[in-house]
Amino acid sequence: MNSENILEVKHLHKRFASKGVVVKAVTDVSFDVKPGETIGIVGESGCGKTTLGRCIVRAYDASEGEVFYRTRDGEELDFLKVDRKKMKSIRKEIQMVFQDPYSSLDPRMTVLDIIKEPLKANYPKMSKAEMDQRAKDMATKVGLNPTYLMRYPHAFSGGQRQRIGIARALILNPQIIVCDEAVSALDVSIQAQVINLLHDLQKEMKLTYLFISHDLSVVEHISDKVGVMYLGKMAEFAETEELYAHPLHPYTEALLSAVPVADPTVQIERIPLQGEIPNPANPPSGCYFHGRCRYCTEKCKTETPEFVELKPNHFVACHRAKELSLRGFAYDTKPEAKDE
Ligand code: SF4
Repeated sequence: MNSENILEVKHLHKRFASKGVVVKAVTDVSFDVKPGETIGIVGESGCGKTTLGRCIVRAYDASEGEVFYRTRDGEELDFLKVDRKKMKSIRKEIQMVFQDPYSSLDPRMTVLDIIKEPLKANYPKMSKAEMDQRAKDMATKVGLNPTYLMRYPHAFSGGQRQRIGIARALILNPQIIVCDEAVSALDVSIQAQVINLLHDLQKEMKLTYLFISHDLSVVEHISDKVGVMYLGKMAEFAETEELYAHPLHPYTEALLSAVPVADPTVQIERIPLQGEIPNPANPPSGCYFHGRCRYCTEKCKTETPEFVELKPNHFVACHRAKELSLRGFAYDTKPEAKDE
């Protein structure tokens, strides 16, 4: 494991088998994460990003591959191979914040009990008074009023409920948080508040985030690096600014063309994605994206492009990445001056 990294995902695969059909949800995904970084993972629904996140926190067992993780004590582990006993002590270092703040909180528990539940499970000898105090401190840290903690989740707004979910994830003092569509169910103004909160908590608690979202404008704001997934594979991975300004994969270009721009004078030609996402149980030959790609050639239909580092720290899987000149987000989008 590289000494600079906290997490290394290597050739990760996840297959689900049901009634004789094998679905490749994640295929050969690799990337590295440094401590304190935020990695955004984007793609349409069904692209495998949630499954990838769940394999990394070991909510799912990966079918193949490795996830190397550096613990708080500096131990290097192949996270996917550690036994149950070891897993219990490590799991508190990698936590997850879920999409839906409405269904991920038990409506029969008070908010105080929800936030301190992980403490009960991991520190059975801790006194009730200490658990309560820690839960109140964490509630304050995420912007909740500690005097309201004896209420039930239904008494809170969507944004407040997501703060409860964040407090519950942070109470064990983790190193890594996997945020799965953590702000997608919220209004735009509330999204911004929760993203700012995540940002502040990251600095204060030295957190590393894996931020999974279908929303490229949200991911741009929070991420240092972004991976674009398509049909279970990583299509492109680069630093955020580089990826948004100079995409190398036609799928990234199409996704970026659909991101709304705040400036009403800017007109963007939207690049339509033809057709539907193919069935992952029966993926296309060659490049998985070929049936929807406007740059497709005969080679794309039969040969699988490799995921290569085409520019420093900019990885892509496309046969034509070297020759294509793709359009980035909100660059060169000002309407050209018309001749009078
Ligand atoms: Fe499009 Fe071909 Fe590149 Fe696939 S390999 S993204 S089909 S140009």
